[in-house]
Amino acid sequence: MQFLDLHTHIAALQPEVLRIQSLHLSEATFLAMPKQKPISIGLHPWYTKFADFPTLQKYLKVIAQQANVRMIGECGLDKLRGEDLSLQLEMLRFQVQLGDSLNKPIILHCVKAFDELIALKNSLQPKVPLIIHGFQKNAQLATQLLGQGFYLSVGASGLKSPSLSGFLKEYTGPVFLETDQGEVSIELIYEMYADLKKISVEKLKDIIFANWQQVGLLPY
Ligand SMILES: [Zn+2]
Repeated sequence: MQFLDLHTHIAALQPEVLRIQSLHLSEATFLAMPKQKPISIGLHPWYTKFADFPTLQKYLKVIAQQANVRMIGECGLDKLRGEDLSLQLEMLRFQVQLGDSLNKPIILHCVKAFDELIALKNSLQPKVPLIIHGFQKNAQLATQLLGQGFYLSVGASGLKSPSLSGFLKEYTGPVFLETDQGEVSIELIYEMYADLKKISVEKLKDIIFANWQQVGLLPY
């Protein structure tokens, strides 16, 4: 069974890894869209100028329909970078609704705007899974977000956080693993998580596979 990497910006092809490569939509990506490998694509809050939103919105509506686009994003909210939060919210709302209409999960970036993210979910009530990537906050916030129906994807830094890893050790619901910028390999992240859960990597592979099935990302 393959290692499953939910969110990465690394393009490498390895037969033992199924990864969803995350692309930021721009004119350049629009013109050179991968047609085969699994990707997610969306408007990253760091890089998207609201002035370009009308054009990018049209592009995204078209390419989001490609079969290899497995999720919409990463998209989201960031109070430290990018456009004003009200503008970020408008762009995010569009992407959540688009994913919902295409039945594709949303992969989310969120920095210091979790209350706003929860409010947006409650107002839109999408049927598709909303997955917060790179989660590395504390157990209390994890509990709150899971209680609101979000999913969490964690990488090496999340697993190294004492509060979060303490929580994940006991948590039995679905969690996703990711490499994001790729500093730590997915194989090593599986090992870290298997250690934490006191299970074998083989057993963990089965669990993560079932989690992907649960949100509709497998079978591929
Ligand atoms: Zn990322």
